Amino acid sequence: MSRPSRHLVVIGQGAAGLAAALTAAEQTGRRSSVAITLIERAAQDQAGGNTRWSPSNMRMASPERVEPSFVHDMLAATQFRGDATYFARLAREAPTTVAWLQYHGIAFTQPTYYLSKGPPRIQPVGGGASLIKTLATAAAQTGVTFRYGCRARTIMDRGVTVEEDGASETLPADAIVLACGGFQGNAAMMRAHLGPGGETMRLISPGTSFNTGDGIEMALRIGADISGDWTGIHSEPVDERSARSAPVVLIYPYGIVVDKTGCRFFDEGGGLMHETWEHLARHIHFTRPSSIAYAIVDSRLLEIPDYQRAIRSEVAPVRADTLAELAQTIGVDPEGLAATVGAYNAACVGDPSTFDATRRDGLAAATSLQPPKSNWARAISVPPFLAYPLVGAVAYTFGGLATDDRSRVLRKGAPIPGLFAAGEITGHFYGTAPNAVSILRALVFGRIAGVEAVRALMRN
Ligand SMILES: Cc1cc2nc3c(=O)[nH]c(=O)nc-3n(C[C@H](O)[C@H](O)[C@H](O)COP(=O)(O)OP(=O)(O)OC[C@H]3O[C@@H](n4cnc5c(N)ncnc54)[C@H](O)[C@@H]3O)c2cc1C
Repeated sequence: MSRPSRHLVVIGQGAAGLAAALTAAEQTGRRSSVAITLIERAAQDQAGGNTRWSPSNMRMASPERVEPSFVHDMLAATQFRGDATYFARLAREAPTTVAWLQYHGIAFTQPTYYLSKGPPRIQPVGGGASLIKTLATAAAQTGVTFRYGCRARTIMDRGVTVEEDGASETLPADAIVLACGGFQGNAAMMRAHLGPGGETMRLISPGTSFNTGDGIEMALRIGADISGDWTGIHSEPVDERSARSAPVVLIYPYGIVVDKTGCRFFDEGGGLMHETWEHLARHIHFTRPSSIAYAIVDSRLLEIPDYQRAIRSEVAPVRADTLAELAQTIGVDPEGLAATVGAYNAACVGDPSTFDATRRDGLAAATSLQPPKSNWARAISVPPFLAYPLVGAVAYTFGGLATDDRSRVLRKGAPIPGLFAAGEITGHFYGTAPNAVSILRALVFGRIAGVEAVRALMRN
């Protein structure tokens, strides 16, 4: 085989990097003059970033189509600050990307999502771990070279400087795909962009810690434009006691959430759980004493069909026969909790027979209650009483690189020759993360980056 005359370096072995590397290898063929190298900072058995720990729900009506309202819904989630062209390309390419995954042997199901319905989703069988395994195997078989324990440090015209085993080396790179995640694992960047406390936020999964904004910083040093909300994060409330990845506790809409003083501080029934979880997690971490809060419910939780689906913690809730005992056990001010539950119960004036955990049931508390409770307002009155201690955990950041709908990284609005990016490292999200879209966009724009990088190499 002739020596490769052109080099593509893909940085990061999550969904975006694997989609880019495998697609590029499929474009060029095994015997081509293009060498494709994927570098990954983690050891092979820990590689895969967030993707590896992600259930990877994808917002699609079926593997063949997205909902007609997809682009509008994406723009609404970004408070109409998002790039319509980018989201339109995502909608267009999602079905072909899923078909490509199926071609590689990944099967899809339509998952039951926690307790509430929300937009339709599909899920790869085996979640993100199976995406990583399947795509990495296929990429290796198609000729991609993997370098694990190899951390990218600098990108330059036709090169990437990496560190491996304490040594520095510059790899030739005629094209580069940046796919090395957001900056949630970088305490200094978290503090700089989210404010004091950003640096101590719990990371939702073991893979999250590898995403330390390296790719963002490397691209900014060569003048790349930025996009997305740099103060924005996707975060979720998790059981403070759990040692698991992503031990979310999403039963709070069916009770109340109080802080250490025993006071409520937000509308627990303000929307379906995936519509309020980011706000709650952030509120707990940044505004509550000791950055902790407690979901308090009564024993009627146990009558909600399949309520366990909304709890991913392995630790049982704290249980007590009285609220005073519960408060004492969890370290919440008992008088504060008694007053809060008293006021809340008095405001639960709706017909409790209309309670329905699976949809916004309209069972609102009296408007005198502050903060309000807009749905699922049922008195907390049937012992035993249960509590889960909650902390906020960050999954990913919204601030990142500006890219166009061809995954090209922009500088002063124009593409930087030979530089592409996909996945969490790119911005595009504002306000709130559109539910079940992060993995889809990593795969779709990763594939597009692979195609575009090969096209750029063939031109030069
Ligand atoms: C618990 C959890 C649940 C989730 N659930 C969903 C869901 O249901 N639906 C959804 O859409 N999204 C979900 N997400 C988010 C989604 O999974 C991620 O945003 C997506 O997988 C990110 O893919 P990526 O390829 O951009 O980054 P990652 O998968 O994080 O990959 C980045 C890779 O880059 C590597 N890297 C970092 N820096 C360097 C460097 N300097 N040099 C070399 N390598 C580097 C990292 O080690 C990592 O392997 C979830 C995330 C988590 C953690």
